[in-house]
Amino acid sequence: MRIIAVANQKGGVGKTTTAINVAAGLSEFGYRILLVDLDPQGNASTGFGIAPTDRTVTSYDLLLEQSTIGETIKESSFPNVWIIPANSDLASADIDLVANEKRSFLLHDALRGAELRNIGFDFVVIDCPPSLSLLTVNALVACDSVLVPLQSEFFALEGLSQLMLTIRDIRKTANPQLRIEGVLITMADGRNRLSQQVEADARENLGDLVFETTIPRNVRVSEAPSYAMPVLSYDPQSKGAEAYRKLALELVTRHKKTAVRA
Ligand code: ADP
Ligand code: MG
Repeated sequence: MRIIAVANQKGGVGKTTTAINVAAGLSEFGYRILLVDLDPQGNASTGFGIAPTDRTVTSYDLLLEQSTIGETIKESSFPNVWIIPANSDLASADIDLVANEKRSFLLHDALRGAELRNIGFDFVVIDCPPSLSLLTVNALVACDSVLVPLQSEFFALEGLSQLMLTIRDIRKTANPQLRIEGVLITMADGRNRLSQQVEADARENLGDLVFETTIPRNVRVSEAPSYAMPVLSYDPQSKGAEAYRKLALELVTRHKKTAVRA
């Protein structure tokens, strides 16, 4: 089982979209995928067809140790993808867990325990909130690698150094094996010079860390969540669906090599 956290403290860069569609893309290879929604906004849950009224047991209950992991897992609207949903309860997790000595390890302990091993997933994908708060720390402590979406716009690279520092800290303290799975350029627009420049800068500065696949800006990608589906099922032939399928293939292929270490 491989655990991949999708993280970037900036909002609106394509984390949730990537978590949903990477989960869907990997599942098309026949893998069993668990998506963990760790954002109080619950957009990944909505995007996979879990209505707010169905989120009776959530990732919040898991972190607060009020439910076992088996109790929190729900079937999604996509074959081979299961989800631990989130709702706004999660917004108070930082405060509710302040006195808990294990507070950074709660997700780690839940995902690395015997119960999940017995259920048996090939990949766990974690959708992080737009912050470097306790929730993201839990994801970084629990995961094998981080996938970092980078929106192709001005200042995109500046925000990355803070995330890299956090990753380094966590490597020194709680998760020495933590790797960077890759940086994914999202919402790329080949006709826009700024977008091209951001991609060129990222490749120059980050080298092999940048996925070969880039995700184009594509309206079908942004429409899909309102139909509670990944773009892979909403419009399987769209440019966005093709790009996420290619990314999933790249991930599967990279897996067989050693992940790059930053
Ligand atoms: P985050 O989770 O980082 O906050 P989201 O995945 O929610 O970001 O994306 C932010 C917005 O951009 C959403 O409205 C989403 O539908 C849209 N979006 C993301 N990726 C694309 C894309 N490739 N093409 C068009 N719109 C996109
Ligand atoms: Mg999000």
